Amino acid sequence: MLILDGSEGEGGGQILRTALSLSALTGVPFTLKNIRSNRKQPGLKAQHLTAVTAMQQICRANVQGATLNSPEVIFIPQKIQPGNYHWDIGTAGATTLLLQTVAYPLSFSKSTSSITITGGTHVPWSPTFDFLEKHWLLFMRRLGFEFSLKLVQAGFFPQGGGKIIGNIQPFQTRENFICIKRGILHKIQALSAVSNLDIEIARRQAHQGQRRLEQQGLSVETKIETMKAPSPGTTYLLLAEFENSQVCYFSLGARGKPAEQVANETVDTFLNFMTKAAAIDEHLADQLLLPLALTGKAAHFTIHKITSHFLTNIKVIQAFKKIEIVVNSQPDQTGEVFMKPVE
Ligand code: ATP
Repeated sequence: MLILDGSEGEGGGQILRTALSLSALTGVPFTLKNIRSNRKQPGLKAQHLTAVTAMQQICRANVQGATLNSPEVIFIPQKIQPGNYHWDIGTAGATTLLLQTVAYPLSFSKSTSSITITGGTHVPWSPTFDFLEKHWLLFMRRLGFEFSLKLVQAGFFPQGGGKIIGNIQPFQTRENFICIKRGILHKIQALSAVSNLDIEIARRQAHQGQRRLEQQGLSVETKIETMKAPSPGTTYLLLAEFENSQVCYFSLGARGKPAEQVANETVDTFLNFMTKAAAIDEHLADQLLLPLALTGKAAHFTIHKITSHFLTNIKVIQAFKKIEIVVNSQPDQTGEVFMKPVE
């Protein structure tokens, strides 16, 4: 039984999610204490609790402490069962984070799985559905994970009620993952979307994003869309395709936040990325660690910023798996990362 401390490093929900995926995959049981103790409201929230019960269902695990606000969970897995699963988070908790948690274990079974998740699809502090579909999926395919995703309807904070469907095919081994130089910028695409709000808001976001990028001599192709959702919300996303990589940044609307500010937030983070020479953005970086560790291959890549999410995820992965991970930089700096399975 591994004993993990949820207050270490970032001290957030990712420690639990990574531990659940790896426990299911390695068969190693774990106890996680001090769950999310660095957060204002620590313990298991709806999103984290659903991750525990979903994974329990997938690998018929023996579980203790799976209650709302629980500070500690004991998880003893059995064999992973592929199949058709439905989960409802019940709040605007991120469906995307739950999908990532269950997708890796399911992809190492011999047959296909289909999962349907209800909850938030466009909520702060987590990847949105668009980030997963336009960005994460591409890297997953490069690593050998065959996932397809569908947005049935969006779910914004605070109401949630969004629905996503994921299809998970068996994993297929690929080459080592090398992504060091991003290369020439080929194109920038923007998505400006609203639900249950005037389309003019999406046009204002789009216009502001375009104006800011043009000031820097950059052109952008923008799609303006309305999304089906039970409550109002907006998003503005930039996807920049380079010769050897791509990066994605987005921001979300909120009551009282002007459309121009939504666009500015996204453009600012993207322009900041452009000031450094890395190939991978800081959010994808921490989300790549676990799938990379599962490929059984080596990896060498550069990331925009070494975040505490990134460093904490490394620790959790190394608690379960023998893998060498070298980060050639300091926290908050641009860095180069080497990963290699230990025989
Ligand atoms: P809590 O922080 O309340 O525990 P949590 O369970 O959402 O909540 P975190 O440990 O903070 O967990 O993990 C959040 C995940 O969402 C990380 O993988 C992070 O990279 C990702 N994420 C956060 N913001 C963005 C963003 N703007 N774009 C893409 N991914 C994001």
